[in-house]
Amino acid sequence: MYTSLIPILYHTYAILSIVIEMMYNRSMLDESVESLKGVGPKTAGILKKHGIHTVRDFLYNLPRDYENYQAPTSIAEIRPGKVVIKGKIDSLTTRRARRRNLSITEGVIRDKTGAIKTVWFNQGYRIKQFSPEKEYYFTGNYEFKNGRYSLISPSATEVTDVDPNTGLVPIYVAHGKLKSQDFRRIMKSSRDKFDKIPDLLPTVATGARKKALFYTHFPNSIKSAEGAREYLAYEELFELILASQLNRRENDKLKAMPISFSAPKIREFVASLPFKLTGAQRRATWDIFQNMEKSAPMNRLLQGDVGSGKTMVAAMSAYEAFLASLQVAFLAPTAILATQHFENLSKILTPLGVKVALLTGATKKKPELKAKIATGEIDLVIGTHALLTDDTVFQDLSLVIIDEQHRFGVEQRQKLMLKSPKDKAPHLLAMTATPIPRSLQLTVFGDLDVSVLNEMPKGRQPITTNILPEIDTRERLYPKMREVLKAKNQIYWICKAIDDNPQSETTSVKSRTAKLVQDFPKAKVEFLHGRMKPAEKDEIMARFADGKIDILVSTTVVEVGVDVPNATLMVIENAESYGLAQLHQLRGRVGRGKVASFCYLLTPGDVKPTRRLRELEKSSDGFYLAEVDLRLRGPGEIYGALQHGALDLRIATLSDTKLIAKAQRDVREFLKNPENMVKYKELMSGITKYQQITTLN
Ligand code: ADP
Ligand code: MG
Repeated sequence: MYTSLIPILYHTYAILSIVIEMMYNRSMLDESVESLKGVGPKTAGILKKHGIHTVRDFLYNLPRDYENYQAPTSIAEIRPGKVVIKGKIDSLTTRRARRRNLSITEGVIRDKTGAIKTVWFNQGYRIKQFSPEKEYYFTGNYEFKNGRYSLISPSATEVTDVDPNTGLVPIYVAHGKLKSQDFRRIMKSSRDKFDKIPDLLPTVATGARKKALFYTHFPNSIKSAEGAREYLAYEELFELILASQLNRRENDKLKAMPISFSAPKIREFVASLPFKLTGAQRRATWDIFQNMEKSAPMNRLLQGDVGSGKTMVAAMSAYEAFLASLQVAFLAPTAILATQHFENLSKILTPLGVKVALLTGATKKKPELKAKIATGEIDLVIGTHALLTDDTVFQDLSLVIIDEQHRFGVEQRQKLMLKSPKDKAPHLLAMTATPIPRSLQLTVFGDLDVSVLNEMPKGRQPITTNILPEIDTRERLYPKMREVLKAKNQIYWICKAIDDNPQSETTSVKSRTAKLVQDFPKAKVEFLHGRMKPAEKDEIMARFADGKIDILVSTTVVEVGVDVPNATLMVIENAESYGLAQLHQLRGRVGRGKVASFCYLLTPGDVKPTRRLRELEKSSDGFYLAEVDLRLRGPGEIYGALQHGALDLRIATLSDTKLIAKAQRDVREFLKNPENMVKYKELMSGITKYQQITTLN
């Protein structure tokens, strides 16, 4: 009786699982990697540790390169340089070198025409990898080393492992114990999976995705592999762009409080300023006013190089909201910055009747202040994270301004945004000093309204930048420092580390301070670093701003928009260890006053300066430098400087503007048909992660 039940139960189970799969749209791709042949719990453990959890992750782990074994060289004809040899290997030995931590594995590779030595360093597993009867392809550099020619650290592939028609072998990045050949082995036994991969997007050629995936792992030719990869990059860009477009749609569905343009008052305000607005400031303000008149919330990014005058644009936007009797919140990442903004904005706005308040961790009488915010008595609150707490309630918050917006995560920004009245969203003005390279703007930030301050206020003094080997400090830098100190100007000196570390040669904040105290006995030298308490940091920074410290030795904590116009010299030690964008930001701490400023980039020893430093020496244009940075370091790093979180592109590079343009066109088409969003479930569920990283609010 029981036996007859089993098939029925099994049948029911099978049907149920199909139904469940259909309901949740779970495909084979979502299954755990363990469902692949040849992946047991142990292998799965390693894969998962490296971020490969599902079948999808495994199939999208594309080869980093391909070896071409089509035309091996015979040993008799071998020449120095990169070679491919087809042969057997014997006489394998391994030993420790005199230098600790180095193992040397050697062997002899033979073919019909001769024999050569081969050697691997710290690859002890090689000794067990080969069997003497089998034939392998070896690729590596044949070079003269330690008194003789040998094949250095070749990669090895069994001949039977290689498709004899193409001679091509994909090379995968090794993950712990899992080597390239293990990935190939698992991939081979997963060949049947490819046929079940559904298309991700509507495409001209049905099955484009599975073909592309297949040909990256089993290439016919290098060309077909490249084409396949490009298709997959296109899909990734499509996802990214679709995500940002959907963000825009969601934003447009929200309701904001329209703020009408008060032309005469604004004109009066502009006329009262001690300087003329730059053209870029005018354009940005105009864009903002137009956005704020709408009943959909503004979602605008204001980018402008350090010193381009973003705060003034923020001030005018806040004033406009005040004129409409609505409240404004201005969020800054540190107490120093918030205080500085408070002082500057109070100066301009208080005479016009705006009630401005500062709210940081150090604010006294918080409950009283919060009560005034809640009743609408305060018009503009400038603050730090202290603004975000639940007990900070507004009466009618209508505009949120965020300075250095990348310093805040999505949740933090959300917290502030949700403080506007029920059913309403505030207008958002996010500010950043990191220029966005165009390609990044087209993709990740494609849905944003962006204003650019690409024009510096008149009368700005240029910053002269010099690369200087550290040994020349005394001769070439000290005289300049004396000159600066004599003119009663101030100096920033940036170090990499706080404490000395016997393992590294970098001079720490502490030992550099000691040295400078010795060398400049008359100057007031102090230091600042990130391990100090916030109050202590604020206090030192405030005294520096007051001119009470002559030389401030610091880590990069001074990076964020602090304004000390009297500081005219910046020294950056170990300059080569920073990214270009960061160096540019650091340098922007000087050159804010009426006198010419200088920046010295110190490099250790007599190493040739990197391209990054040379570019920085040549150019002070943040946008140009951002493009260079993008080319030198890739989009991930740049993205990190713009947004909190990580942009982790698997395949696409963001440098292919043609491909980006195509993906943009296709996303536009895709969005025209609402049915698509129901039909392409995998696409829609996969892009939520991109929606998080492409949003401002
Ligand atoms: P950032 O864009 O780096 O935040 P700020 O807003 O701090 O720049 O402006 C830097 C300095 O330039 C401030 O002292 C500000 O008062 C001044 N400033 C702003 N706009 C102008 C202008 N149009 N002309 C002259 N100075 C200006
Ligand atoms: Mg600023």
